[in-house]
Amino acid sequence: MILLFGIGNSKLKQFYLDDCTCSNCNQTLQHRFTVKGHYFSFFFVPVVPLYKSTTAECIHCRIELPKSRWNVNLNEKFNRAMAFKPAKRPWWHFFGCMGVLVVLLGFAVLVGYYYNDLKEDPEIQSRVQELRDVGENDELIYEDGDAALNEDVNVEPIDSITTFFKN
Ligand SMILES: [Zn+2]
Repeated sequence: MILLFGIGNSKLKQFYLDDCTCSNCNQTLQHRFTVKGHYFSFFFVPVVPLYKSTTAECIHCRIELPKSRWNVNLNEKFNRAMAFKPAKRPWWHFFGCMGVLVVLLGFAVLVGYYYNDLKEDPEIQSRVQELRDVGENDELIYEDGDAALNEDVNVEPIDSITTFFKN
């Protein structure tokens, strides 16, 4: 079986800002800002959100620079725009995480369901009743027929089984 995993990304936000000074050609004009969200993917399904990356593209020289290479002017313009409306990740970047949660919840529900079934199983019920009767009558007859040891019989294990099923 081939396991396919890697890092994918999607555009979270893209916008234009005027009067930005280019870090490359030093012209002051419009720039296009792009924020991407990266995620760890498994079989092309996003599982865990990772880091975000931001680039600015100068419309004059067409160079696309990562945030680490921006000048003060670009940083200021960008931070002001982001403070007004931050870039948020879409819900499906968490798709894999949610999937795992759903599977775990489903498993818990199933266990609860079958545990109730087990309690109501007539065979188990009658067995529990048998053990209860033995406990109440306090007459545990051993295979060799020796009932003389009754007083020493510790019925603790029987009680703990019935308590288990009562709960
Ligand atoms: Zn430029």
